[in-house]
Amino acid sequence: MEGLCVNQAAQPRRLYVHTFGCQMNTYDSLRVQRLLAQDGYALTTNAADADVIFVNTCSVREKAEQKVFSLLGRLRRLKWRKPSLIIVVGGCVAQQLGSSLLERFPFVDIVVGTRALGSLPNIVRSVRSGAPRVAHLPDQDEEGWRELFGQTEAWVTDVVAPVTVMQGCDNFCTYCIVPYVRGRERSRPSREILQEVQLLVEKGAREVLLLGQNVNSYGKGLQEKTRFSDLLRLLAQETDVVRLRFTTSHPKDLTEDLIQCFVDLPQLCPHIHLPFQAGSDRILQKMHRGYSAEEYIRKVELLRGACPEISLSADVMVGFPGETREDFQKTLDLMRCVEFDALFSFRYSDRPYTAARLFPDKVSEQEKASRLTELQALQAAITLKKNLSEVGRTREVLVESTSKAGRGQMSGRTPQNRIVNLEGSQALKGRLIPVTITEAYAHSLKGRPVLPLRTSSRIGA
Ligand code: SAM
Ligand code: SF4
Repeated sequence: MEGLCVNQAAQPRRLYVHTFGCQMNTYDSLRVQRLLAQDGYALTTNAADADVIFVNTCSVREKAEQKVFSLLGRLRRLKWRKPSLIIVVGGCVAQQLGSSLLERFPFVDIVVGTRALGSLPNIVRSVRSGAPRVAHLPDQDEEGWRELFGQTEAWVTDVVAPVTVMQGCDNFCTYCIVPYVRGRERSRPSREILQEVQLLVEKGAREVLLLGQNVNSYGKGLQEKTRFSDLLRLLAQETDVVRLRFTTSHPKDLTEDLIQCFVDLPQLCPHIHLPFQAGSDRILQKMHRGYSAEEYIRKVELLRGACPEISLSADVMVGFPGETREDFQKTLDLMRCVEFDALFSFRYSDRPYTAARLFPDKVSEQEKASRLTELQALQAAITLKKNLSEVGRTREVLVESTSKAGRGQMSGRTPQNRIVNLEGSQALKGRLIPVTITEAYAHSLKGRPVLPLRTSSRIGA
């Protein structure tokens, strides 16, 4: 039991959140903030001030997992200084390691699985009142979709709001831990999504980012017959959302009806994140990806044929078991052929439960590092070339926040998802403005608003 004096009890309780990993984790962390705010927890950016620390973890790559362990090691000192502090570990590492995390880190109080966030306020309350440390990892069957996705509520009022539309994955790519820690695919009923998006828009969101491990297989298992393309059309017709984006798509599930949405829906930004992972068919097969390099390129051609202005980003991996120099060259060939606007590249690492961890012919760390360097140099040249080709064009920029580029500058993104820094004040936040691109860099553009500033319809897209 905590012995709080009256003055201390009057202080607001504080929550510190540290999020590792993907946008889905960011969304889950927002959900935890909302849930604990109902119990009086205000967010703090200083871990030393916190009464509860929530560490939202990622285990997709070995490096991400190591970062989690090193953060937890650092939190030990805070617990020594303030024994009433409650440390919670959630996310994929929590799901994967469960109660063994409590054994390894004796100062951690609560381990909560990826499908159990809805129970967190109750668990925090009971641990505060003296209940023992606990790992709560309900079975797949136990949780309802409310537990999984939360209430429909407009919590964030940022310019860009994430909305999860599905959870889990059924694809079992041989390198990937996600199906084991996030469970089978579950889609959220379309009505709930529409309500949440409209609420967010009414609270000030201009852009909504639909999230899922494999959004374009949305609809599986739902009683309603709604495909992902139907969901996009419903959102465009029935809500006031200004911009729509989604991530992540699987190439094998990229259908013509979804491609057609880029033609028909003015709200849908011309950008798609379409991970290809490798350029060699032999490796793609061993990865269990369900497409060949040629089929991938064909889908890109269909996208560009339908929407010539579309920009493409992707994930790729080097050093999958058995990947030869020749296979790797095919990855570079695919990159030269497609010319991605942006690319997220990773070294393969063995993950628990996955099939590939048992595959022979592992590539040495040194070789993986050298392939990654070569691949990233190629992509840097492609990205810069593409960014330079933006100079002189006018693009519609949604201004999101103050810029990291310096004082008096704001930052936003073009429909193609390029970051643009421009001079201006907070008054521009949330506005869609036409901007002439004046300079291009490796990771961003610089632009000048086309005067007079006004709320514009789509241009340059
Ligand atoms: N669902 C998405 C898809 O199908 O591409 C990706 C989700 S995964 C969380 C994000 C990225 O992490 C993957 O696209 C892949 O490139 C990378 N990744 C996954 N497992 C990995 C592993 N074992 N080693 C290195 N990178 C990995
Ligand atoms: Fe992992 Fe493959 Fe599912 Fe993506 S599609 S989450 S890479 S198993």
